[in-house]
Amino acid sequence: MRRGARRRVEVRPRLPQPLGRLEEIAGDLWYSWYRPARELFAEIDPVLWEAVSHSPRAFLRTVDESKLEHAASDTAFLEHMRSVLAAYDGYLGDARPRGAAAEWTRSAPVAYFCAEFGLHESFPMYSGGLGILAGDHCKAASDQRLPFVGVGLLYRQGYFTQRLDVEGAQQVEYHDADFEHLPITLLKREDGSEIRVPVSFPDRTLWLRLWEARVGHVRLVLMDSDFDENDEPDRDLTHRLYGGDRVHRLEQEIALGVGGARALEALGIQPAAWHINEGHAAFLIIERVRRIVAGGVPFAVALEAVAANVVFTTHTAVPAGHDRFEEAVIEGYFGGLCREMGIEPSTLLALGVSPDGPGFNMTALALRGSRSRNAVSRIHAQVTSKMLQGFWPEVDATENPIGYVTNGVHVPTFLASEWPPSAHELPDADFWSIHQRLKTRALKHIATRMRARHLRNQGSEPHLERLLRLVDFQRTDVLTIGFARRFATYKRAAMIFDDLDWARELLCDPKRPVLLLFAGKAHPADHPGQDVIRRIAEVAAMPDFEGKVLLLENYDLHLSRRLVAGVDVWLNNPVYPLEASGTSGMKAGMNGVLNLSVLDGWWGEGYEPGNGWAIRPAAPHLDAQARDREEARTLYELLQDHVIPLYYDRDGDGRSPGWIAMAKRSMATLLPKYDARRMLDEYIDHFYQSAAHAGERFAADGFAAARELSGWRSKVEGAWPGVEVRWVSALPPRVTLGDRARLEAEVRLNGLDPDDVRVEMLVERGDRGAPQPDRLSAFLRADPQPPHDGWQRYGLDYAPALCGGLSYSLRVYPFHRLLAHHFELGRTAWSST
Ligand SMILES: *Cc1c(COP(=O)(O)O)cnc(C)c1O
Repeated sequence: MRRGARRRVEVRPRLPQPLGRLEEIAGDLWYSWYRPARELFAEIDPVLWEAVSHSPRAFLRTVDESKLEHAASDTAFLEHMRSVLAAYDGYLGDARPRGAAAEWTRSAPVAYFCAEFGLHESFPMYSGGLGILAGDHCKAASDQRLPFVGVGLLYRQGYFTQRLDVEGAQQVEYHDADFEHLPITLLKREDGSEIRVPVSFPDRTLWLRLWEARVGHVRLVLMDSDFDENDEPDRDLTHRLYGGDRVHRLEQEIALGVGGARALEALGIQPAAWHINEGHAAFLIIERVRRIVAGGVPFAVALEAVAANVVFTTHTAVPAGHDRFEEAVIEGYFGGLCREMGIEPSTLLALGVSPDGPGFNMTALALRGSRSRNAVSRIHAQVTSKMLQGFWPEVDATENPIGYVTNGVHVPTFLASEWPPSAHELPDADFWSIHQRLKTRALKHIATRMRARHLRNQGSEPHLERLLRLVDFQRTDVLTIGFARRFATYKRAAMIFDDLDWARELLCDPKRPVLLLFAGKAHPADHPGQDVIRRIAEVAAMPDFEGKVLLLENYDLHLSRRLVAGVDVWLNNPVYPLEASGTSGMKAGMNGVLNLSVLDGWWGEGYEPGNGWAIRPAAPHLDAQARDREEARTLYELLQDHVIPLYYDRDGDGRSPGWIAMAKRSMATLLPKYDARRMLDEYIDHFYQSAAHAGERFAADGFAAARELSGWRSKVEGAWPGVEVRWVSALPPRVTLGDRARLEAEVRLNGLDPDDVRVEMLVERGDRGAPQPDRLSAFLRADPQPPHDGWQRYGLDYAPALCGGLSYSLRVYPFHRLLAHHFELGRTAWSST
């Protein structure tokens, strides 16, 4: 039979009047952290709720009218809905700022730019940790009522859907999202026309539409190019997150940075501070400079003014992780702009020069276009300072202008709502029963995912039963270890299989079974990462490991929430020091799931004896293989001697009191510290406030301060190669504490003024076996006498404040009161004697 042409029509259900406000709930990502709101939809139709991936909008567009009518006449449902709406109104109605946000007196917001935002599985605009962090940052800003606007791209296909075949080969699927099913609104002017912003490319103009996603008190502005104003290839530009070739990536980043800055302008938003979360968005610097230059301000002054209120967070611990583009390509895209600004292309290209390799480097641009810069954990700050040392060539890495704010996670999103406040004070029995309930929920979800994968791959029911032997909801007393994150090779997901015999001994003891769960995606271009997935699939299929090692597909926020609350141990064994921060372990730890992790990233700060287990990194001089082996050995030893025995050390009630004590300790110590609100407070206190202040100061009076600093900077840069410092009279060989000694030095200023520099004596005591030498510094003052023969005298009456053998040295560096950081210029000269 031949069918005629088919046409499509979409029939929308009509929301019965009592349910009208469900549309509001569906349109605000507040639902992503308020579980009772999500449960409303699940109550109406649980099967559909799963089928639409927990998307309230998609749900309301497709649910059967009869189910809605049923809910509308169900008093219990209506009661539940009223309580959710009351909570929502209460949340939105309370605009009182909290924490450090209470000190933010401006109405102007912080603008936060990121290539991805991970808020909820219904809104797949993320690939991994960076996006989840950005989502959590927005949520925390909403909770704290900080004026805040997120800026990003709206991807029709997002990242990808991961399918795994029997061998563990990753198949990548892209699905078009129906924008009507996402929690977004197209932004329009009062007259109903769409707001669109142009971005110039060499041979054409790209247009971007603006959308808004509501995240409680915060809005997220997202841009897409998939509409008729653009020609075909450009319509695809915003299809995929981290897809396409280099030019595609460059155009996306121009859309994000340049388009994003224009979008805010079109919306009448003038941010007080601009936060670039990872280098992808750094082109916003160039766009902001362009705008100021157009008002007749010189390029260097404009750059000074822009950088004053830019905050840059770097997340990458290896140079290869930084985005870079060929200079010729950059010149092609920005040549017109250079002509417009009256600068040579080389001036613009200089912003992207990096000491560690050729090309236009986005991290370099972000560093030069910001005055507040931070890494995301203490260890990461040390690594980053060393890696970026070349940007401040005469400054020791420990003194670089790079700070850190350790990441945090949004507690209401990731702390299972079953946990009451102060859960660590619950009696053991209650504490354990909540954990076991969460474990059941996780196991059910795991079974569902395993089933779907298995049946799609033509597996049999009896075989599935075997695989799910340990995933038994009645029996939640099997030690369950979770490992879920991006499968980047440095994360070494398969390290636990380094010595298969040992692993077998640990996992295959019938009296003390262990279930090991893996999940994660590898970037489609990351073939070594995909090999790791295959290796895990291979082990999971070995007869000994079958049912003990499970590989789950399509890691997303839903699976993440289930796992971090529902396993017993959270494993993380990256190559030190490549884990910038890591956040999934924080989510686990605050749910009472014990971390077993390499002391890297956040765990280097979060670990204390008794709140989890630490794998100390092997000696750095070993080669990579030897380190892997060494650290795998530590992992096995910890499992064999501590983790497994403690878990199975059951009392008469079938619980392990020692385990519960650790789980409570994990919760008590980690929950307050790794709350995203703590992170946001630190950003406000250390960066946003000073950036906003500097931004205002530099722009005032026709950019007077920016002009002053820019002029001073070029004067110093010119004079510096001729600046020298030397002792005239140093300390005598012996001094008694309490005595003073006159110190004198002189500096060849090479045309600078005496106040353009600081002359500093550094005193160190390193002879007490202290891990960090004691260090003091004192500044020498300029003599009122004018320079003699080009040498300016500086002096100090010095009273040593330390006893013992001290060493001291003398240096000079440029100083100006408007500098954001002493070593901003990267210049120092030391006395050679
Ligand atoms: C928390 C989270 C991450 C980040 O995990 P890391 O341990 O930092 O690698 C990635 N993906 C999802 C879905 C998450 O929830």
